[in-house]
Amino acid sequence: MFVSFLQCTLCGKRYAPNAVKYVCPDHGESGVLDVVYDYAEINRHTAPAQIAQASDKSIWRYWDLLPLETRDSVPPLPIGWTPLWRAGFLGRSLGLQNLYFKDDGRNPTASFKDRASAVVVAKACELGADIITTASTGNAGAALAGVAASARLPSVIFVPENAPPAKIAQLLIYGARVLLVRGSYDQAFELCLAASKEFGWYCRSTAYNPYTTEGKKTGALEICEQLTLINQGLYSPVTRASREMLVQQIEPPDHWEVPDRIFVSVGDGNIISGIWKGLRDLYALGWIDRLPKLMGIQAEGAAACYNAWRAGTDQITPVHANTVADSISADLPRDGVRAVRAVRESGGEYITVSDQEILDEIRELARGEGVFVEPAASAAYAGLVKAVRAQKIDPAETIVVMLTGSGLKDIHSAMRAAGNAQVIQPTLEAVRAAIAN
Ligand SMILES: *Cc1c(COP(=O)(O)O)cnc(C)c1O
Ligand SMILES: [Zn+2]
Repeated sequence: MFVSFLQCTLCGKRYAPNAVKYVCPDHGESGVLDVVYDYAEINRHTAPAQIAQASDKSIWRYWDLLPLETRDSVPPLPIGWTPLWRAGFLGRSLGLQNLYFKDDGRNPTASFKDRASAVVVAKACELGADIITTASTGNAGAALAGVAASARLPSVIFVPENAPPAKIAQLLIYGARVLLVRGSYDQAFELCLAASKEFGWYCRSTAYNPYTTEGKKTGALEICEQLTLINQGLYSPVTRASREMLVQQIEPPDHWEVPDRIFVSVGDGNIISGIWKGLRDLYALGWIDRLPKLMGIQAEGAAACYNAWRAGTDQITPVHANTVADSISADLPRDGVRAVRAVRESGGEYITVSDQEILDEIRELARGEGVFVEPAASAAYAGLVKAVRAQKIDPAETIVVMLTGSGLKDIHSAMRAAGNAQVIQPTLEAVRAAIAN
């Protein structure tokens, strides 16, 4: 493991990797810790060309950039290496030449959260934890329940009572102990922390556990590596054989390419912080030579990061979150400070989108490219549409939209966007009548 130290994002104080478990003791919950590596040492052990040859099509291909001691602790469920592909039809309809989607709905529990849960479960196993817990709006819990089941680690999940039923079903089917909290996500979060302290459970909760970000950064590592391999003809999510065939003839890359912009939806702000961390790690290693602009997309009804970004501060004022996109419905974004800084440092922007725009783009994504996403994922694309209409985007830019979760997670919202199907009598006349109008 090449971790040098953990560093408080607020005061900059450094801690030895095993000296603190969660946050900076000087700040309580808001002292989120960054994991800082010995980049020179990583460069002595690995390089992009070596990673390109890795047979491991999962987040673990980036082993040397992850905060773990031993491969024995890795849960068996395969996570990551989700497809990145060119969204030609929607790209053209928006007048963009290089639009890509990264579909993280393809993860085993169908959201981006699997990346964080995999790293934190591995860490829990290293630490010898007996029980792991998290608070969640749904997806982080489902991801933890699934990954923990694959590692045979018991889990206790706190979710708001009104989480979408499909997400609650996931928790139950994986055998987690599910506690439906009569209250908001923020109340579930506080309760989970208190229970973790009281009962000694290892806590995965977002932006409290320092390793969620390290899992989430793998999304950025994959984007850069896959984009490079696509441009060299070494990777295509469609013709799986091409890479193996060509790899003998073409030199593997010693350097990775970056998109110009990445669109990411923001609730707690841990995904966007993780994406930024991954990019900064690659930049520190010298594997990429510039940093993309990050576009943080929030729902109008849950826009605490947007508000802080607009006000030019990184002081986060809580809101009363209200949006159809449950996965980004946070009153107080737990990783808000880093999420605001990430966008500002990258030279990107925050954009808000309405619930109607979110629902409309679920339909557009499904009909335009055949990809079915949940509202929080559609939000990122809705942000792109808005940015294009506001003429903020150059048509030649390479754009990646992070599609963070599957549409099957929230069919109620999908039905709202799609309308109802026609019911007919079982006769050909009925079919004729139906298709006539
Ligand atoms: C959690 C989640 C997000 C937002 O991630 P944050 O770290 O909370 O900002 C976006 N989309 C989906 C599908 C999610 O599950
Ligand atoms: Zn501190």
